[in-house]
Amino acid sequence: KKRIKMDPLVAAIDQGTSSTRFLVFNAKTAELISHHQVEINQSFPKEGWVEEDPREIMQSVHECIERTCEKLCKLNIDVSNIKAVGVTNQRETTLVWDKDTGEPLYNAIVWLDLRTQSTVERLINKHKTGLPISTYFSAVKLRWLLDNVDEVHEAFLSQRAMFGTVDSWIIWCLTGGKNGGVHCTDVSNASRTMLFNIHTMDWDPELCRYFDIPMEILPSVRSSSEIYGWMVSSDTPHSTLCCLGDQSAALVGQMCFNEGQAKNTYGTGCFLLRNTGTKPVISDHGLLTTVAYKLGKDEPACYALEGSVAIAGAVVRWLKDNMGMVQSSSEIEKLAAAVGTSYGCYFVPAFSGLYAPYWEPSARGIICGLTQFTNRNHLAFAALEAVCFQTREILDAMNQDSGVPLTQLKVDGGMTSNRLLMQLQADILCIPVVRPTMSETTALGVAMAAGAAEGVGVWSLSPGQLPHVTSERYEPQINPEGKTVRVKSLQWDHMTYMTQDIQQ
Ligand code: ADP
Repeated sequence: KKRIKMDPLVAAIDQGTSSTRFLVFNAKTAELISHHQVEINQSFPKEGWVEEDPREIMQSVHECIERTCEKLCKLNIDVSNIKAVGVTNQRETTLVWDKDTGEPLYNAIVWLDLRTQSTVERLINKHKTGLPISTYFSAVKLRWLLDNVDEVHEAFLSQRAMFGTVDSWIIWCLTGGKNGGVHCTDVSNASRTMLFNIHTMDWDPELCRYFDIPMEILPSVRSSSEIYGWMVSSDTPHSTLCCLGDQSAALVGQMCFNEGQAKNTYGTGCFLLRNTGTKPVISDHGLLTTVAYKLGKDEPACYALEGSVAIAGAVVRWLKDNMGMVQSSSEIEKLAAAVGTSYGCYFVPAFSGLYAPYWEPSARGIICGLTQFTNRNHLAFAALEAVCFQTREILDAMNQDSGVPLTQLKVDGGMTSNRLLMQLQADILCIPVVRPTMSETTALGVAMAAGAAEGVGVWSLSPGQLPHVTSERYEPQINPEGKTVRVKSLQWDHMTYMTQDIQQ
């Protein structure tokens, strides 16, 4: 059959904590044409440790690309219509590989991993990076690898070691690997390492000295929208690559280009980002300052305030994988909806400590308020409520920092297909929650950035030329008679719960 020539296409490799996806969009309409998704295994070799296999990550990328291209062929769409491929990725997750053999020297240490807790406790706060010192960021994970893994240390001594976050690993492999792969990252990913100066937009020699990280193993830092190199894989041979960290990509995909615009993404964790324009704003309420994006070599960088929650969808995955309570994550909705209440049961899924606004690595998960009446339905409901309460806390912090409360919350991510969760979220925030009908916002964001790169030019990110997206809206309903809503805030110092009444 003859292949159809059509509008240019742009694609995204979306390498998240729980899965990898390859998605192809129409560059004029933003319509999702085809995609494929593969779940990623996580290993927990010791208490608090979380690892993923870099080879499995690359295999999943290749598999997703191949399957999607097959689907395009079945639709009679010529794969050569794909003009650019963007990479968006789980941030902070740290890898070191050997540039001569092309092989990883250890598993990827996932952002949620807690093994560096004692290192962190020894270090003091640094403000240059906009980040508090935490197990979350890459610098301490890289330090751990250099100190504890002989292969990494030896490769470093013989100048064979390369460090990267997942974006760098994927781009290096896809652009040729040991045969001349491009070793780079973008400003949004670099700003999550604690080695990057968000004011000068470059690796910071002083921070590298502080963490004793050799600068020669770091990737070069590029803007988020420019051609880094060409894919050498057989399927899409001429496609170009650029990248954005997943939360930045979601901000772009939600078209939050103006100061004050915000979105919350519910994946493994959940991440509320508010665009603060071209000036970094330092939080007084436990939020992070991060580089949101820099859409072109000569464009200014835009910053964001970020509220990061470590465990959101991961609590559902835990109920599925560790407790065997459901067969698939989506089943949790039916289970919770059957009772419609947690019946006084509270679930604090602090599996990896607590991130924003507490930054308390020693916190651990807790379920309380149990009676003989409590059953798995109540537990399922409490797990979903926990995601909403955590979002409420970071939204409150965000509103206090900015002084201008958000009047609605744009949302996306894997968990947002859960309608009960969305309604519960609107109720607990007391503002409407707005979800795009095409929920692959992260992928769309990086595909837009790739399509807009100089030399590709199939997409324009100018106002008025942005793709139109439809959305659904969840209005708060909990308070029709002006009654109070009970909202919990956590006091970790005493390991007790405080409840406060929020008057609508
Ligand atoms: P990531 O980008 O971090 O890999 P995704 O955006 O793909 O995450 O979302 C996957 C997460 O969302 C998983 O942790 C999964 O348990 C959770 N999830 C997916 N669907 C649902 C659902 N219908 N209800 C609740 N949680 C869900």
